[in-house]
Amino acid sequence: MKTTQELIVLLICFLPLSLPGLQAGQENRPLTVAEASGFTATSTHAQVLSFVQDLARVSRNLRLETMAVTTEGRMMPLLVLGRPVPRTPQALRGDPKLVVYIQANIHAGEVEGKEACLMLARDILLDPQLTTLDRLVVLIAPDFNPDGNDKISPNNRRHQPGPEKGVGLRPNGQNLDLNRDGMKLETPEVRGLVEKVLLRWDPALLVDCHTTNGFYHQEPVTYVGPLNPNGDLEVLEFVRDKMLPAVAGRLEKTYGYPSMPYGDPRDPADLSQGLKTDAYLPRYLTNYIGLRNRLAILNENYVYADYRTRVLACYAFLRSILDTCREQAGPIRELVRQADQRSSERWRSAASSSLFHTAFDLQPLPDKLVFQGYELEVTPREGTYPLVKKTDRPKTYTVDYYARVVPQRSVRFPWGYFLTARETAVVANLRRHGITVERLTQPVKAQVESFKVNELRPAERLFQGHWTDRIKGEYIQEEREFPAGTIFVTTAQPLGSLAACLLEPESDDGLVVWNFFDRFLVPEWGRGFEPFSVFRVLQPVDLSRETIE
Ligand SMILES: [Zn+2]
Repeated sequence: MKTTQELIVLLICFLPLSLPGLQAGQENRPLTVAEASGFTATSTHAQVLSFVQDLARVSRNLRLETMAVTTEGRMMPLLVLGRPVPRTPQALRGDPKLVVYIQANIHAGEVEGKEACLMLARDILLDPQLTTLDRLVVLIAPDFNPDGNDKISPNNRRHQPGPEKGVGLRPNGQNLDLNRDGMKLETPEVRGLVEKVLLRWDPALLVDCHTTNGFYHQEPVTYVGPLNPNGDLEVLEFVRDKMLPAVAGRLEKTYGYPSMPYGDPRDPADLSQGLKTDAYLPRYLTNYIGLRNRLAILNENYVYADYRTRVLACYAFLRSILDTCREQAGPIRELVRQADQRSSERWRSAASSSLFHTAFDLQPLPDKLVFQGYELEVTPREGTYPLVKKTDRPKTYTVDYYARVVPQRSVRFPWGYFLTARETAVVANLRRHGITVERLTQPVKAQVESFKVNELRPAERLFQGHWTDRIKGEYIQEEREFPAGTIFVTTAQPLGSLAACLLEPESDDGLVVWNFFDRFLVPEWGRGFEPFSVFRVLQPVDLSRETIE
């Protein structure tokens, strides 16, 4: 039995046939560009906007927010789907619904996630029962890279089968890779993600849709969770060992698509050497989310599957994720709540799980990985890599899966940091991430660990507009006086693990790496180094301090 309100919603839902602008399919559903073109094309950003605006006109369960305006001036929409759609995040306080966020097209040559997201939004909203929204609020950014998207050309990513009419480009309007911007936050798109999604809606899960560049197998969908062991290990293990196996099981059983964990061959000419996934740095958004104590799934769809299969399999994967989240909403909420608490208290413990790690090794997981591949024909070549060709003979591979990032070197996780360099870019970056930054209102004498720089090694090649830096040195215990006005950042906050990753001198993806401290590393004259301007405070100190607003 339906309430009057539900009947009105139903009526509104079935109005689209009469609306201009929407091409309708057999079931009165508006069609995406992929569907309407018979899977030969992908949407321009204007077509994405018009599709979601039409959906917002016919469904009261959708509201559109603006995530960012890109470098080239395109407005990025964020779809908020809820029943009822929450007017503000505050309206969700005390509501047990789980907030889940999905983004696609961050690399705008990898378009099937964008098309799948549009279908997903439509089908969630036009489901008469609105089943997905009974326990979830779903946020969707269907086109995370509008500037890259609108450079659609059949010449881009020519190695993938379709869409014939072309796809966009990988970089954003600043020629930057948005999936390397997790720590430095230099792009309007990723800044928008942090400000308008993470800090505003605090989703428990982020899903980021891509396409592989990889090797030959039969599974159309691959996936991996956060990998960085400086993030919350229980979150990392929950995604890897519980959530993703449940999602994969559902994807196969309910939708008929096989899938496998994401990886590349360790030796492309010899798959028996196993697969690896080693992109553990937090510049990659799914790892960044792990450092924020939240769940994340990197979805990589299989490049050599035809375009229709890539879109439909990605769609089914997203549905399987949402179904799993509906089922697990309570435990996931509790998991991230506890992860925030663990991060805030990490400084208290000297246990190895509470150290800060500065170097890593990649090792295989205990379980073998099984996937359906093909026999390969390998022809050795003089002076270069062997030529590897796929045959049509299917073959099941059972191999080691190198996806365990094991700390090799660690330092004690501190209670906080004093920053003596008055570098506004550092403070602005920390605050952009949502980290609480304070300033001393009284001078203080404190026992600290300073870092004496012995070696500065800039990269040999520009990367994302940076000569990235690594510094090496030694830690020195000393008592030091810090004047009023000194910046202070405590790790005793939910984003404590992220703060450490940004500020630790030897962090492999922190603000030193991204040149935020360059002005403070060497004196104008002479050959030595300045004392490093971030000081580690291992134990709580009584401080007079105020939050920088
Ligand atoms: Zn990608």
